[in-house]
Amino acid sequence: MQRDGSPHAFCLGIEATADDFSVGILSFEGTVLANVSIAFMSETGGIHPREAARHHAKVAGTAIIKAFQKANIGSQDVAVIAFSQGPGLGPCLRTGATAARALASYLDVPLVGVNHCVAHVEIGKLVTGAKDPTTLYVSGGNTIVSAFGGGRYRIFGETLDIAVGNCLDVFAREAGLCQTEGKPFGAIVEALAKEGEELVELPYSVKGMDMSFSGLLTAAVRSLKSRKHRLEDLCYSLQEQAFSMLTEVTERALAHTEKREILLTGGVGANRRLQTMLKTVAQEHGSRFCRVPTQYALDNGAMIAWTGILGFKHGLITPVEESFVRLKWRLDEVNVPWVEELC
Ligand code: AMP
Ligand code: MG
Repeated sequence: MQRDGSPHAFCLGIEATADDFSVGILSFEGTVLANVSIAFMSETGGIHPREAARHHAKVAGTAIIKAFQKANIGSQDVAVIAFSQGPGLGPCLRTGATAARALASYLDVPLVGVNHCVAHVEIGKLVTGAKDPTTLYVSGGNTIVSAFGGGRYRIFGETLDIAVGNCLDVFAREAGLCQTEGKPFGAIVEALAKEGEELVELPYSVKGMDMSFSGLLTAAVRSLKSRKHRLEDLCYSLQEQAFSMLTEVTERALAHTEKREILLTGGVGANRRLQTMLKTVAQEHGSRFCRVPTQYALDNGAMIAWTGILGFKHGLITPVEESFVRLKWRLDEVNVPWVEELC
């Protein structure tokens, strides 16, 4: 098999920015052969960076072997190793990077460091067919509204404090909810919100194009502790406020950029209420609504492998001495030469 970037070459990508250790294998044309994830689950539901990193070190070998088995290729077929270089939790990123460096060196193939946020956008475009979207990326660690322009994905709006997924997760923990069968806290809040009837007054914080979720969280927790409202009503109200903020900023970015697509990605993108709000906005602006399927919207190795391929095809190789992890690496700091300017 070819290792030179010809049509039958493959890239193995490692994602380890937070709670998931995931390995994806893709062909250079963008066919996903494997996407194997092993999630770290703590007893409290939070992520302790060092504990998560220890988990990743323990499961790395298993995840890589499983990915090769699933893809049904041999290690000699791998032409490139990609890894999530940032942003993320230091100990987790370092564990993923160490595994990637070791593999690249053992297989004697190039290494490509990938920006995790760019990867979410790129896999979203690959699997939905979106060409030039305004993207809402909402997860446990990120809340970003972006669109391409002038060689980079530009950030039009973002959270000023915590991510929207973190807001939902902390509220659920404060309410004493349990993650049965690994169901995410956001999905548990969503199920309770469906039974909500009363809109409880909570702060709505959009500042210019940025959002703040910490005040909303504090107020929701305070209302919870006051016992004046049903939990279902609080879940409903929390979702309505948080998702209205996200929708307002996304709509303004869409109107400003005049893009014809809204791409929704990240774990919180699995929420039906948020999907409905964004779909309505897309329809009102004559744009297409593109939702990334959950397996590719959550953190996953396939997105790292695909972005590694895009970078590699444009000569972006990361020498080992420059493969240090970048905890605060912003989406808008990355040149994406593979994206064409659509005029
Ligand atoms: P990620 O950080 O992309 O791996 O996604 C994890 C985040 O997505 C966590 O904050 C989850 O609570 C959240 N999440 C998962 N499913 C849902 C859902 N149905 N509604 C809202 N949030 C969700
Ligand atoms: Mg995750």
